[in-house]
Amino acid sequence: MDCIFCKISKKEIPSDFLFENDKLSVFKDIHPSAPVHYLVVPKEHIQSIAHLEGNHRDILADLIYAAKDAANKLGLKGYKLVFNVGREGGQIIDHLHLHLLAKLPHSG
Ligand code: AMP
Ligand code: ZN
Repeated sequence: MDCIFCKISKKEIPSDFLFENDKLSVFKDIHPSAPVHYLVVPKEHIQSIAHLEGNHRDILADLIYAAKDAANKLGLKGYKLVFNVGREGGQIIDHLHLHLLAKLPHSG
C-alpha cells in the first residue's frame, strides 16, 4: 500500500521520532503549523476517525495516552490535540493521526 505514514512506521522513510512502541509512533510533523507539532500515528492502517470499528477502542485510547506522555516529555504546560477527519475536515493523509500542537514550553 502506498501510504506515507505506513512507510514512516516501517522506517522505509526517515522521520524525526520522539517515541515508538509496537502499536504507534510519535514523530515530528514535516511542515509544522505550530512551534511544537508532532503526529501520533497507529502502526495499523486505519483511514480516519470516520473509519473506526469496534475493535479500535484500545488503539484510540493509546493514541491519546501517547500524546499526553509526549507532552510531558516535551515539558508542555498546555497543548491542543486535533484529529482532522475527511477532506472537508482538512485531512490530507488518509492514515489516522492525532496532531499534538503547542507553543514552545518557555514561550509563555
Ligand atoms: P492532515 O491534514 O491532518 O492529514 O495532516 C497531515 C500532516 O502530515 C500535515 O501536517 C503534514 O505536514 C504532515 N506530513 C506530511 N508528510 C509528512 C512526512 N513525510 N513526515 C512528517 N509529517 C508529514
Ligand atoms: Zn497507512
